[in-house]
Amino acid sequence: MNVFSHPEFDHHEHLSFVCDAETGLKGIIAIHNTSRGAALGGCRMFPYASDEEALRDVLRLSRGMTYKSALANLDLGGGKSVIIGDPRKHKTEALLEAMGRHLESLGGQYIAAEDSGTSVPDLKVMGRHTRHVAGVTTRTGFDGQPSTGDPSPVTAYGTFIGLKAAVKHKLGTDNLTGLKVAIQGIGNVGFRLARYLKEAGAELWVTDIHADNLKRAVDEFGATPVGSDDILSLPVDVVAPCAMGAVLNDQSIPGIRAAIVAGAANNLLDRPEHDAALKHRGILYAPDFAINAGGIIDVFYERTGGSPEQIRAHVDTIGDTLSEIFQRSDRTGLPTGEIANELAEERFRKHAAGAGLAPRRLACAG
Ligand code: NAD
Repeated sequence: MNVFSHPEFDHHEHLSFVCDAETGLKGIIAIHNTSRGAALGGCRMFPYASDEEALRDVLRLSRGMTYKSALANLDLGGGKSVIIGDPRKHKTEALLEAMGRHLESLGGQYIAAEDSGTSVPDLKVMGRHTRHVAGVTTRTGFDGQPSTGDPSPVTAYGTFIGLKAAVKHKLGTDNLTGLKVAIQGIGNVGFRLARYLKEAGAELWVTDIHADNLKRAVDEFGATPVGSDDILSLPVDVVAPCAMGAVLNDQSIPGIRAAIVAGAANNLLDRPEHDAALKHRGILYAPDFAINAGGIIDVFYERTGGSPEQIRAHVDTIGDTLSEIFQRSDRTGLPTGEIANELAEERFRKHAAGAGLAPRRLACAG
């Protein structure tokens, strides 16, 4: 298995391969860049088919966090961790505690948050052995409601703000009354996004592989349920993928009839060239790592002690960032994902220059 010459390595500062024979823990902690601060990113648990698959995933996700935090103007670096195993079969308190001890050994260079396959309670178990876990504090949330630390409510709000910016840019209106939106995945983020949209007067189509999640959205919002395969090609104004990544691909893009794609799921583009494919079809794509930054913003303020008003104001800037991306894309003819990367690198460099860091620390781009 190649590491330093891995195509996704991209100047990672640090990689730890962690193992605990007693509990069966096998995982990788990746720290891409700490120029802007400690690396913060989720700890994902997934039954990867091979070590190579786990390495590729953690490297891509960790680099993505450097870009997401820089684009959101947060003083955070990029990192991520993965635990190799099926969360429904292999996740035990002892395994999570072992992971916590490994996190502690890094001295705060990397801070773990929840991700697919882990939850706030899991992070709390890791936290028995380390302070370097985030998104675990009960406090008043950005909306004045009690928050358990789960970033999903803030991610949903940020996605709603970003979706509105996309509608304003593409359809020239602030009014969402009668806007037709199809949501793929009506889980923690998708369900809350549906509520914001419904309250704003939108008409909803929803799909989910879990019948109970689907029923909840149908009952609560009067949404129309549709099959998983049909959701992306409905004749609506906006499709909001809020389930899994790589759904914007060779098969789906030719069939998209919506003017806008704006959803919370990470790594929506199957391959980088799908960014241009969407632009070519005249579809406005809100880059995933710009629109779904609400969660990382929330976790940042949990650590720095920001007020609910500060969190909300910062999340509202997601709309400004997206508007800037859309305008620049129109001016240059470049696709929005490419512009988002460019803007993240600009913000990264600006911060580093302000902090007087040496240029060699700016190896953000691959
Ligand atoms: P979740 O697991 O609560 O919800 C995902 C939903 O999608 C589930 O209801 C699931 O049943 C459904 N789903 C899975 N596969 C599907 C398919 N093929 N077709 C239709 N539905 C399907 O997850 P979440 O926390 O709501 O996150 C949603 C997405 O947003 C993920 O990609 C996540 O990585 C991303 N994201 C989440 C956050 C956050 O704060 N939760 C932050 C940034 C990005």
